[in-house]
Amino acid sequence: MTDILKYDYIVIGSGIAGIRAAIELKKYGSVLILTKSKLYEGSTFHAQGGVAVVISSLDKPKFHFADTINAGAGICQPDAVWRMVEEGPKRIEELIDWGVSFDTKGKQFKLTKEGAHRLSRVLHAGGDATGANIENVLVNKIKNENIDYMEETYVSKLITQDNEVYGAIAYRDKKRFVIFSKAVVVASGGIGQLYDVTTNPPVSTGDGIYFSFLAGANVMDMEFIQFHPTSLAMDTYPKFLISEAVRGEGAILLDENGNRFMEDIHPLKELASRDIVARAIFNHMNSHHVKNVWLDISPIGFDKFEKRFPTIYKKLMELNLCLKGCKIPVSPAAHYFMGGINIDIKGRASLKNLFAAGEVSCSGLHGGNRLASNSLLESLVFAKLVGDSGKFYENTSIREINFIDEPISSAVYDESIVKEIKVIMERNAGIIRKESDLKKNIVFFKDLWSSYRGLSDDNEKNVILKSMIINGLLISQFALNRKESRGAHFRSDFPFLNDIKWKIHQKYSIYDEDLKWIK
Ligand SMILES: Cc1cc2nc3c(=O)[nH]c(=O)nc-3n(C[C@H](O)[C@H](O)[C@H](O)COP(=O)(O)OP(=O)(O)OC[C@H]3O[C@@H](n4cnc5c(N)ncnc54)[C@H](O)[C@@H]3O)c2cc1C
Repeated sequence: MTDILKYDYIVIGSGIAGIRAAIELKKYGSVLILTKSKLYEGSTFHAQGGVAVVISSLDKPKFHFADTINAGAGICQPDAVWRMVEEGPKRIEELIDWGVSFDTKGKQFKLTKEGAHRLSRVLHAGGDATGANIENVLVNKIKNENIDYMEETYVSKLITQDNEVYGAIAYRDKKRFVIFSKAVVVASGGIGQLYDVTTNPPVSTGDGIYFSFLAGANVMDMEFIQFHPTSLAMDTYPKFLISEAVRGEGAILLDENGNRFMEDIHPLKELASRDIVARAIFNHMNSHHVKNVWLDISPIGFDKFEKRFPTIYKKLMELNLCLKGCKIPVSPAAHYFMGGINIDIKGRASLKNLFAAGEVSCSGLHGGNRLASNSLLESLVFAKLVGDSGKFYENTSIREINFIDEPISSAVYDESIVKEIKVIMERNAGIIRKESDLKKNIVFFKDLWSSYRGLSDDNEKNVILKSMIINGLLISQFALNRKESRGAHFRSDFPFLNDIKWKIHQKYSIYDEDLKWIK
């Protein structure tokens, strides 16, 4: 059964990027948010550390700009970084007006320092519940503004013709919705679920990249995945994050013998950029055959830790972990995707009427390594810019086209494939990569695609599997191509930066010769 709907704008995803874009677009017409779980379920809700923004009198946009560029390993897109640092404070003021209460001391905001920031500039709310505070306020706002939304509804495909987007196809309880619109905004979050060890929630399966790429959109920087140095090294799924702000407040990393090993690795020690700290931990774990290192919170003081990080404290208590003077077992986990659907400075993708914002998008802002706590700010700034594009559609109308839907195959698969993908990505396209492993991945994903490309879209698990295959293939191919080490992409067979050949972004679409076979 199929329902045909018409909305001026479709927004795919209800995290910070999707909702912020929807609020703006509502000024220019009707908006429908499609989201595959509950409204609040996504990375945004789980963000702990906070939002980096120039708000202190000691800080300047040029400092935030320089720190972002330095962390980004030489390939940040400067105009995008400027946009974020300059417009960020306005976006934060809006959030405060709408009801987000960032933590204060007296009349001043409390600010934390995180890795590779030169000074304290990270605002937080509810201690370490920043994302939940922001998401709750945004969800209330769409309800108050009567913006339509459909929960438990996953998008499987964009409706396109001749490189123009006309809408999207979605499913809820096996029912198919064909939704025509003037423009589509993809805000479907990251890809962490491609990895066995990740901090990302179950919805982060890269779907937006998958269906936008198949529709012909350019994708960029797919080799750059940020591994967070300190996820809780216990059997929770996804991995529970121990925010970088914990190190920002003074916690230090110790090895199994109680030695502070980051002192020998980087002058900024535990607050070096994430790629450096994650790789140092990974190398230490491998060379010493240990499953984790330890985060010693005693420099913060136990009472302050409990007050400053109530969510983390509660979790540690639930797991019977944190007693006075405790050390927390930590190890790296896939956390943030710097790559994604290529967008320009206004959030436009390479297909007409297609926009993207948030973690699914890639303006090149984060370069090869995102500066801590820049992603919530980036999402707000670029989602607002996407929303502003509504004014260009005011005098246009929604067009319906005839289109051919996907083939329905009777192929069946064993669900153990999903686990196999995660293990293979972890092993061959994880913190340390090399040619032979990446080539194995490409063969593996090509085989899977030929077997399962025709799986019907009326089952969400099929769409997720297809998305994981395409994302895994693209990540592996981009990582194989980049024969150097830069930011979060480290090749053991090419361990050095090569600015002469590789100070560039890789960008491909399905029309490129080598990738045409996917179509
Ligand atoms: C544990 C954790 C802590 C973090 N802490 C911080 C921090 O302190 N500061 C910071 O700046 N960043 C932090 N990040 C990163 C940051 O939270 C994310 O980059 C940001 O929230 C992404 O927002 P988003 O709107 O792009 O995606 P999300 O918030 O992930 O939302 C994606 C949405 O898309 C929907 N969706 C996905 N696929 C489909 C589909 N096929 N159809 C329909 N809907 C779909 C999902 O259901 C969800 O609603 C953290 C991330 C994690 C995981």
